[in-house]
Amino acid sequence: MDRKNNTVSFISTPGFCSDCGSILPLLGEKGDVKCYACKRTWGPEAFGDMYMNYTIHFNKKDAYESSKQKDDDEDEAEGPVVERKCPQCQNDKMSYATLQLRSADEGQTVFYTCTKCKFKETENS
Ligand SMILES: [Zn+2]
Ligand SMILES: [Zn+2]
Repeated sequence: MDRKNNTVSFISTPGFCSDCGSILPLLGEKGDVKCYACKRTWGPEAFGDMYMNYTIHFNKKDAYESSKQKDDDEDEAEGPVVERKCPQCQNDKMSYATLQLRSADEGQTVFYTCTKCKFKETENS
């Protein structure tokens, strides 16, 4: 949107005050805004298409984050599998992951996850 071309016909321009032509503050959670220049209060309709784009943008962000979360869960299920008996379901295979602590003297912690019932246990080496 080119503001210079809209200075004459600002009345129907979304995001601008229809009374004085000043740009409106961004829409808050309450759903209405107050013009800085003339103090008139406007509802979400003053933003027109701008408000619609604002809403759609947030929906896309939510969808992106939920699909990203799904990928993380799949990664957790993978990993090297060792022969180790699960104390909960007696399955003899568990996947493991290691975490090296800050100091090498403290050794590392091994996280085991049962491939069958997802029981988790840790072991310090
Ligand atoms: Zn105004
Ligand atoms: Zn198990």
